Amino acid sequence: MGPQKADLLKKELGIFTFGDLLHHFPYRHIDKTRFSPVIDLNPTLDYVQVRGFLTYKETAGEKSGRRLLAYLRDETGTIELTWFKGLNWVEKLLREGAQYTVFGKLSFFMGKPQLVHPEIEPYNPDAVPNSLEPVYSSTEKLKSRGLGGRPIGKLVQALFEILPHEELPENLPDAILEKGKLMGRYAAYRGIHFPRSPKECAHAIRRLKFEELFIAQVRLARTRSERHRLSRGVLFDQVGDLFNTFYKEHLPFELTGAQKRVLKEIRTDTASGHQMNRLLQGDVGSGKTIVALLAMLLANDNGYQACLMAPTEILAQQHYKGLSELLAPMELPIRILTGSTKTAERKKILGELLEGSVRILIGTHALIEEVVQFQNLGLAIVDEQHRFGVAQRARLWKKATVPPHVLVMTATPIPRTLAMTAYGDLDCSVMDELPPGRLPVHTVHRLDDQRTRVMEFMRGELEKGRQAYVIFPLIEESEKVDYESLMVGYENVKAFFPEPRYWISMVHGRQTSEVKEANMQRFVQGDTQIMVSTTVIEVGVNVPNASVMVIESAEKFGLSQLHQLRGRVGRGAEKSYCVLMTSPKLSNDARERLKMMCATNSGFEIAEKDLELRGPGEIEGTRQSGSLNFRLADLVKDKTVLDAAKSYAEQLVEEDPELESADHVRLKQYLLSQMGKTPWSRIS
Ligand code: ADP
Ligand code: MG
Repeated sequence: MGPQKADLLKKELGIFTFGDLLHHFPYRHIDKTRFSPVIDLNPTLDYVQVRGFLTYKETAGEKSGRRLLAYLRDETGTIELTWFKGLNWVEKLLREGAQYTVFGKLSFFMGKPQLVHPEIEPYNPDAVPNSLEPVYSSTEKLKSRGLGGRPIGKLVQALFEILPHEELPENLPDAILEKGKLMGRYAAYRGIHFPRSPKECAHAIRRLKFEELFIAQVRLARTRSERHRLSRGVLFDQVGDLFNTFYKEHLPFELTGAQKRVLKEIRTDTASGHQMNRLLQGDVGSGKTIVALLAMLLANDNGYQACLMAPTEILAQQHYKGLSELLAPMELPIRILTGSTKTAERKKILGELLEGSVRILIGTHALIEEVVQFQNLGLAIVDEQHRFGVAQRARLWKKATVPPHVLVMTATPIPRTLAMTAYGDLDCSVMDELPPGRLPVHTVHRLDDQRTRVMEFMRGELEKGRQAYVIFPLIEESEKVDYESLMVGYENVKAFFPEPRYWISMVHGRQTSEVKEANMQRFVQGDTQIMVSTTVIEVGVNVPNASVMVIESAEKFGLSQLHQLRGRVGRGAEKSYCVLMTSPKLSNDARERLKMMCATNSGFEIAEKDLELRGPGEIEGTRQSGSLNFRLADLVKDKTVLDAAKSYAEQLVEEDPELESADHVRLKQYLLSQMGKTPWSRIS
C-alpha cells in the first residue's frame, strides 16, 4: 500500500500496524451459502441474500429524484432493486438476462419486497463460496479512495497469508481453555475474520471476548493482590477511646447491619499493615456519613489525621456542620477548607495541619492542592466520588510518605458489571440496607398541564408542616437560559405560594457560596418551606422534614441524577412524594427512565437500567477511566462471560499471584508484552 493510503487508514480508522488491522474486526458476516427465495421474504427478515436473473432495468424520476430500478427474478418471484446514488456506475455493471447475487437490508414498498442500494455481484456457479464473508466498517473518505469494506477485507486476508502462528501465540493457560471450552487464539482470530460456519464464528467471538475480559480481570486481581501482599499501609491496630466513647455514648442511633459490616471491613483493612483502597457503595440515604466519621475516629485513635473530601462547597459545609455537632462532646479539633476559605484563616489551618493540632479536615477539591500538607495523614475519604477525577484522587497518595488509607464513597450504586471492571482494583463494600423506618418515596409522572393539581397537592403537604423542593434542570448551553427558566419557574411557584404565608429559598449556580449557603440554611432550619433550585442541591443535602420533590422537565435528567435528587426526600419518618413533571412529548428512552423511577426506589436496580439504556461509556465517573474500551465485549450483553472471566481470574491469581507456574508463563509474558499499552489507571 502506498504512503497516502496508509496515511488515510491511520487517520480514518486508527490502523497503524498489522496488529491494528488484525483487530479491525468485521461487524458482521454475510452467509454466502444461503439464498432466500423471493417468496419467503417477509418483514421479519433483516438482511437477505437473493440470487436470480436480472429481467429489466430502468431509470426513473428527474434531477435529484432520479433513481435506477432493476428487477431480479428467481424461481419464486421478483424483487425490486433501487439505487439513488452512483446510478451511472451501477447501471454499467448491470446486464439484463445475466445472473446476480444481491445482498442488502430488506424493506417493503406497497407490500412488495425491495432492496435499496444492495451489494450486487455477478453470480458465478463455479465459484460458490463456502464461507461467511466478513463485512468491515470503513469511512466515506476511505471508500472514495478504493478502501471500502471489501478491500479492507482483502488486506486482512493478505495479512493472514504472511502471518505465522508464532505471531499470535496462545496467551491463556491450558486449564482455562479447557474449563471454558475455548478455541485457540490463532484459530479465534482466523475464525472471527474468515469463519467457515456460523458456529465457528460464534466460538471465535466468544473466545476473544473472554480473553479481553479475562486479561482485564487478571490485571485487576493482581493489582488488588499486590496491594494486599506488598503495599505498606499505616497501621490502625487499636480501637481506642475516641471510637469507643463516641460509639457508646454519642452515636444518635443504632447502626444498621450493613453499616456494622462495612465498619468491620474497614477495621480489618486498616489493621492489616497494608494500604486500604476501598469503594463503599451505598444507596442514597443508607448512612455513609456516620461510617466515615467512625473511620476517622479510628484513624485518630491510632495517632493519625483524617480528611473527608466532598464534591461541592455546600456539601462540604454541611458535612462540617453535621460532623462538628456530632463531635462537639469529644473535643477533637475539626476544620473546613474550601475554595472560599479566607486567606488568613487558610494560613492558620495549614499551619495547624502541619503541626498536627487539627485532627479532622473537611473540604472540597481545595484539599488536594499541593500546599495542603499534613503532619501524618492516615485516612482520606472521598465522598460522592463520581465527581472526582482519577488523577485528582491519585494526588491524595502524595500527602504522606506511607500512602494513607483511602475510602471512596459513591453517590449512587454502580452497576455490578461496571464495578467489576472500572473499579475492580478496589475492594468493594456494599450498603444495601436503609436505616429502619424509611418509607419508599411514592413517585409519579405528571404532565405540565396538571401543574395546578400538583401545586395543590404540595400545598396540602406544606399545611401539614412539611417542606418541599422544586427542581429545575441545568441543561442549556447557556447559563443565561437556565437562569431565566429558573426565574420563570420561581415566579410561578411564588404565585401559588405567596408571602407571608409561605417563604421560598432559591439556590442556583450564579450565587456566591455565601448566598447559597444562607439560602440553604434558611431551608434547613425551616424558616422557608420551599426550596426552588437548579441541580446544585443534587448530592448529599439532608433535610428530613422535606416530603415533596417536584422535578421540572424531568425528561432532561439522567436516571442516576433523578435517583439522587429523589434521595433528598424520604429521609424522615413521613411518607414522601416525588413528582416528575414533563411535557407530553417524550422520547422512548425518557419514557423508560420515568417508568423506572416510578417503579422502584432501589438505586441498585436503577443503576443496572441506566447502564442498559446509556451504555457503559456514558456512566458518569467512568468515562475518563479508559478501562471500558473493550473491542468486542459488551458489559450489558456479555455479563455471563464477564462472570466466568472474573471467577477464573480471581482463582488463578489467588493460587499463583506471581504467575510462576508453568501453565501461567505465557499469560505472564503476554501481560508484560502489553504493559503500557492499556489505559488502566489507579482509581485512587
Ligand atoms: P448517605 O449515605 O446518602 O450519605 P447520610 O449519611 O447522609 O446518607 O444519612 C442519611 C440520614 O440517615 C441522616 O440523617 C443520618 O443521620 C441518618 N442515619 C444514618 N444511619 C442511620 C441509622 N443507622 N439509623 C437511623 N438513622 C440513620
Ligand atoms: Mg452522603
